[in-house]
Amino acid sequence: MPDRERTALVIGAGIGGLAAAIGLRRAGWSVSVLERAPVIAEVGAGLTLWPNAVKALGALGLDVTDRSVPTISRGNILTPRGRWVRRNHPGDVGVLAIHRADLHDVLRKALPESALHTDAEVTAVSVDGSVTCADEELRADLVVAADGVNSLVRRTLWSGEAVFQHRTVWRGVTAPGSVWPVQESLTMGRGVQFGVLPLPGERVYWFLTANEPRANTSYGDERAEVLRRVGDWHEPIPALVAATPEDQVLHNDMLDIDPVPTFVKDHVVLLGDAAHAMTPDLGQGACQALEDAVVLAANADDLPRYDRERRARVHPMLTAARASVTRNSDTNPLRHAALLVAARLLPPATWRKATAQWSNWTAPTLP
Ligand SMILES: Cc1cc2nc3c(=O)[nH]c(=O)nc-3n(C[C@H](O)[C@H](O)[C@H](O)COP(=O)(O)OP(=O)(O)OC[C@H]3O[C@@H](n4cnc5c(N)ncnc54)[C@H](O)[C@@H]3O)c2cc1C
Repeated sequence: MPDRERTALVIGAGIGGLAAAIGLRRAGWSVSVLERAPVIAEVGAGLTLWPNAVKALGALGLDVTDRSVPTISRGNILTPRGRWVRRNHPGDVGVLAIHRADLHDVLRKALPESALHTDAEVTAVSVDGSVTCADEELRADLVVAADGVNSLVRRTLWSGEAVFQHRTVWRGVTAPGSVWPVQESLTMGRGVQFGVLPLPGERVYWFLTANEPRANTSYGDERAEVLRRVGDWHEPIPALVAATPEDQVLHNDMLDIDPVPTFVKDHVVLLGDAAHAMTPDLGQGACQALEDAVVLAANADDLPRYDRERRARVHPMLTAARASVTRNSDTNPLRHAALLVAARLLPPATWRKATAQWSNWTAPTLP
């Protein structure tokens, strides 16, 4: 055992950063989280948590059962006119739907306030563990860069800007009870998908993904833009969009990063989207950030192992997510028809295996 408490600075209080802080504290580290925003909160919309994420949360001593609902993520498929292509059964793959703000709240409450620092923008990091934050020089045994897809740490100590995948996504959550009950579903148009996930509290998370030639395109009234695209699709799609407050419709480009050759440089590690941002097509980005946090906490004294294990796990996902982008953005009518036929004919066991392939994971035990 070391004769003094080891110190870690975590940059970013997103899902990855908070989870890393919880894990490292459990492993006996003294942790400070530096977040540039004035408050530690997550807006966002919904999120699917696959069984691997549930195991990671369990390893951190957390349970989100009463803040989430089981969902058949992407198991129910329809056409824009409302014709069923495929129907699955609840509990088929053990996925949970949760509001991001609820997951964030659970993580945040597992940390003491004294560990969390807001208005704390990091402007420089060096591999020896020194960090410049709000004109102060800090130093730690370990620096965890959980600063998201546009990570300053990755861009300065490694290299690699985020990559725009020529796809864009709108998201929203309906006002409680406004459109209820609804069934989870994915409606597949050509190059356009609309997802519906019921959340606790009679709220519904929806998303629309579409092709977009230019990065950072803004439509002003984003809800009107969504309705322009899917207003004539089957119900409850138009009703869900209409039941979402206009100023709460989020619009983001889909970004990812090219695989990073190592997640560790001396005293600095990359974690979450900073290390392996992927498009949301697999629904695994936050799940992998949670896995990172647990594996880091279990191997904080053996960073090369964290690096090996995590790269081996996530790099195939980056490739698979990009293949999904290619498939989901395809507007060719024949290939689209073939995709729907394949979705219709795939036996349930094969479907389960395909959709659950990334969620097979065993969590290491933390103290
Ligand atoms: C549309 C969409 C849908 C998704 N759906 C799913 C899903 O269903 N399931 C799933 O598992 N994943 C999903 N994801 C992916 C998931 O949202 C991300 O992988 C996850 O939120 C990444 O968390 P993070 O903590 O690594 O990064 P972030 O959430 O980006 O957090 C980074 C934090 O760092 C802070 N920060 C940045 N720079 C600095 C700095 N210099 N100094 C201090 N603080 C800084 C930021 O303010 C922020 O709080 C989805 C993503 C999108 C875009």
